[in-house]
Amino acid sequence: MEKNIDKIWENCLKVIKDNIGHQAFKTWFEPIKPIKLDANVLTIQVPSQFFYEWLEENYISLLKTTIKKELGSDGRLEYSIIMENSFDSTHPYTIKVPTSNKRAIKNPSLSMPIDINRSSSNSIPNPFIIPGLQKINVQSQLVESYSFENFVEGDCNRLARSAGFAVANNPGKTAFNPLLIYSTVGLGKTHLAHAIGIQVKNLFPDKTVLYISSEQFFQQFIDAVKNNSQNDFVHFYQMMDVLIMDDIQFLAGKEKTQDVFFHVFNHLHQNGKQIVITSDKAPVEMHDMEQRLLSRFKWGLSADLQPPDLETRIAILEKKLYNDGVEMPKEVIEYLAYSITANIRELEGALISIMAQSSLNKKAISIDLANQMIDKFVKSTTREISIDYIQKVVCDFFNIPVDMINSKTRKREIVQARQLTMFFSKKMTKQSLANIGSRCGDKDHATVLHACRTVNNLMDTDKQFKASVDELEKKIKHQ
Ligand code: ADP
Ligand code: MG
Repeated sequence: MEKNIDKIWENCLKVIKDNIGHQAFKTWFEPIKPIKLDANVLTIQVPSQFFYEWLEENYISLLKTTIKKELGSDGRLEYSIIMENSFDSTHPYTIKVPTSNKRAIKNPSLSMPIDINRSSSNSIPNPFIIPGLQKINVQSQLVESYSFENFVEGDCNRLARSAGFAVANNPGKTAFNPLLIYSTVGLGKTHLAHAIGIQVKNLFPDKTVLYISSEQFFQQFIDAVKNNSQNDFVHFYQMMDVLIMDDIQFLAGKEKTQDVFFHVFNHLHQNGKQIVITSDKAPVEMHDMEQRLLSRFKWGLSADLQPPDLETRIAILEKKLYNDGVEMPKEVIEYLAYSITANIRELEGALISIMAQSSLNKKAISIDLANQMIDKFVKSTTREISIDYIQKVVCDFFNIPVDMINSKTRKREIVQARQLTMFFSKKMTKQSLANIGSRCGDKDHATVLHACRTVNNLMDTDKQFKASVDELEKKIKHQ
């Protein structure tokens, strides 16, 4: 009976799907194309060398059993690896690897008994044998202080940090290749990218690591075109073991540079070298970027950095102070952390200016000074009084623990603190009523409106209450 290749592969996939996780299936099996069935040899096409190695290393026994089940005990599997590169992207290599040959994996370039079927007309010059080039001493351009030790971990960055850590400990050998880190500005992309490079250098001093901003990459490429040294440029980048490309969004619309990066990317990826990319947006939101490049980014892992929560902001400030050997009153640290929420660079900037001001003018570090510096150095947009901060001031005023606001209790003083928090949040932040309610004991918008009315009524009738409200308002605004 004639065996139908698609049917056979479909049957294999069914078994595989039942045996591995959904994400793994999507990542490693959906991209596979069955391309040939010859007697009992099934040839499948995989997108890269790395992909093939990963399958062999992780799924070989599952693949073997499945194939044997479908094709009989002498069923075999062969891979065809698509190799796109700058010299020839039309003829994929076919690498035949019997599934039984497991040892091929560890060091494929040395021991894999591969049989490369490719037309002889497009032989690829090996950049590694260009005399002199290999000896270039690459300056990694890494900034020492941007280490993992100095990178504070929080919920906001946990995935990106741990993926970065995994990559640094095993460059090119994890599924996170490329690792793409994205976020808005000032949230630690550059720091984390350097941390990976530093860690690789510490663990594997012989590896060639390069950190480069895509702006620099672009400039160098322009120069290379001018000097007619594009080949050297490409070869240089192809020598990296770890290439860290910061702010890739800068390449938007720059087609030629994207093109050359695409080729560098492919070369590195196929050779099991690690690529780390940062961007100000997720790949799906990148415009003016070549589709084939974007689709490459999806091969690995995209992880975002979120604005840090309060505890992480405090921890970042404390770490910085500790590293600099400076002491600062706890209330000032908290005030800073409460005031600057959306950008770690601004948080650090304010901290540094407070330290500078205080040492220059021999001023004591106080909330007042902090307030002045924040006004001076932080964009007003990112400096909105936060509900968290209002809660804190109100609760401090009444001497009750902050988390009571969110409790279900109906004790009079708590209810009043909660109402005042709602009142000030409505007055001083741009948050919606619903949002304010949900942050103050999980109430709805009607409760917030009611609270505002209650406070206003009380202020009209109770002088002492009004005095307290005014005093609180001053405290919140630091006047
Ligand atoms: P981005 O590249 O996303 O614009 P950066 O990496 O330049 O942001 O980070 C801005 C500043 O904030 C840097 O000084 C960096 O050291 C600091 N920073 C960011 N995230 C952290 C963190 N998790 N722990 C400690 N410092 C951080
Ligand atoms: Mg940056």
